Amino acid sequence: MVNGKLENLENIMKKLFAALLAVFLAFSIAHVSAAAQKKLNVVVTLNYLKYVTEQVGGDKVTVTALANPKQDPHYVTPTPRMNEVTTNADLFIENGLSLDLWAKNVIDASGNPNIGVGNPGHLIATINVPVRELPTEVSRAWGDIHPQGNPHIWLDPLNVRIVAENIAARLQQIDPTNSGYYQQRLDAFKHRLDEKMYGSELLDLLGKKGGDILTRKTKDGELYSWLASRHLDAKLGGWMKMAEPLQGKEIISYHKTYIYFADRFGVKIAGELEEKPGIPPPAKHRDEVVDLVKRDGVKVILNDNFYSTDAADYVASKTGAKVIVTYIDVYSSPEANTYENLITYLLEKILKAAS
Ligand SMILES: [Zn+2]
Repeated sequence: MVNGKLENLENIMKKLFAALLAVFLAFSIAHVSAAAQKKLNVVVTLNYLKYVTEQVGGDKVTVTALANPKQDPHYVTPTPRMNEVTTNADLFIENGLSLDLWAKNVIDASGNPNIGVGNPGHLIATINVPVRELPTEVSRAWGDIHPQGNPHIWLDPLNVRIVAENIAARLQQIDPTNSGYYQQRLDAFKHRLDEKMYGSELLDLLGKKGGDILTRKTKDGELYSWLASRHLDAKLGGWMKMAEPLQGKEIISYHKTYIYFADRFGVKIAGELEEKPGIPPPAKHRDEVVDLVKRDGVKVILNDNFYSTDAADYVASKTGAKVIVTYIDVYSSPEANTYENLITYLLEKILKAAS
């Protein structure tokens, strides 16, 4: 009798345990699938980084850019809103190279341990990008706001290819479940950039590895000669074709914003209105630029939208060169609503002024 009761109790306990286990499992599965559907919260400093992260991250990410795309990227004042959006970030992406130094204040103020420098939740997007104008001596007192070399790397599409690879690798690291998805999106984005760069006809002719081959030839400065040697020069399209009339054309820019762009598209930068990056040009230097523009017959002065055009207007009034006010970040104007359109817009503006 006693044994029977005990057995009964044991059965009840077993059933109760099984029921509890079932409830526990159901909750766990619901939790895991909710986590799988939860988008990664990515915060970036500049808007070109938002664009690239969205291209690579697709519907697995929500991306917030901290700076206004019309703003001077060197000088952004952190606000309470920035700290708030950063508090729950899974990943923080900055340009680095001392351009967006203000990011450090935002990261520190957020109190979010995931995104501290050196953690997987913090990424410097420009790693592996070949940086130019590396200083031989750090001289910020002289007004050098580029102590780690020139940070304006993104106006060269080949650098943005590298940035996209860096972002994809980090998304894969912190969200390995979707690794294949990010890889696919990265490959598709690189292919879109390659099509813009060289035209789809040439890319189709060269097959699967075409984009990588053309990228390498372009980096080595051998694109045009390589195409000519294969009788493919007539097949070139895209930005590299558009830029042909600009080969060797001299321009002046206000700030050292365009060196990577100029290198890529064959434009020659004759000089800058700023004598030292970050310091408004002294009168003596403006007059030296006037002499330079007259001597070389320079027709175009590029002035980033967030700098005063006083110096550029002065040089233009003495020489007849054209001042073009340019936007340099994605989403800064309707013409620059994608990265691809930003590059097309800059090329078109310069071509028009130089002709
Ligand atoms: Zn700068």
